[in-house]
Amino acid sequence: AVELRGIRKSYAGTEVLRGVDLAVRAGEVTAILGPSGSGKSTLLRIINHLEKVDAGIVRVGGELVGYRRKGATLHELREREILRQRSRIGFVFQNFNLFPHLTVLENVALAPIAAQGRPRAEAEAAATDLLRRVGLGDRSAAYPRQLSGGQQQRVAIARALALRPRVILFDEPTSALDPELVGEVLDAIRGVVRAGATLVIVTHEVGFAREIADTVVLLDAGRIIEQGPPHEVLDNPGHDRTKAFLSHVL
Ligand code: ATP
Ligand code: MG
Repeated sequence: AVELRGIRKSYAGTEVLRGVDLAVRAGEVTAILGPSGSGKSTLLRIINHLEKVDAGIVRVGGELVGYRRKGATLHELREREILRQRSRIGFVFQNFNLFPHLTVLENVALAPIAAQGRPRAEAEAAATDLLRRVGLGDRSAAYPRQLSGGQQQRVAIARALALRPRVILFDEPTSALDPELVGEVLDAIRGVVRAGATLVIVTHEVGFAREIADTVVLLDAGRIIEQGPPHEVLDNPGHDRTKAFLSHVL
């Protein structure tokens, strides 16, 4: 469902992604681990075309993201086309990023109405259903500031699902939460996985990655240095950098 090939990205002359290839099959969960600054968030933002690549291509659902091909050259898509593509890619951020002036229900229903043109009644019914699935059926009318961090993040998960995305990207979805709120968000993510979604999740929760991921990827200084099933990467890493990283987070 997601294919990255030869991805390179620099900021101000410093290369933060140095040739990344990654394939995520539909219905599978890929967990990305790696030290701070290794390029994990940049990689997720590239999948969504929130950042442009310097080289390489991204495909989601077989479709080139951000560009169309004309002969041998790639031309960047118009903003409208990019927004259409983005509306099929869910993104859950570390800091929830809910709209503060909208209710919980409006937060979840907005994009399906505005970006996908779905009728309001249908979008709100779907939003109500999704909120129930993440355990917030009774908080539809609340505003984000009236919710705990864990509840806000569960709203963000419902909002991502509302787009019926081809893939959902999670960038450290629990790292801004108080420890006692982490469990409820991980439970909501487990529910999403059980429903058969395709996920790419950046996380420092190694135990959780082991539990839900089909593939664990270790990113280090802009390169994938290890990739495979959790038991291989986490229990039997081939690379000294992986061992060093795991000894810090475990
Ligand atoms: P963390 O675990 O701390 O979230 P990360 O692996 O997500 O780290 P990135 O946020 O992808 O790392 O950043 C990779 C590198 O790129 C860092 O050195 C960062 O400072 C740099 N970087 C990221 N975004 C920008 C930007 N918009 N402008 C300049 N440099 C950037
Ligand atoms: Mg990051």
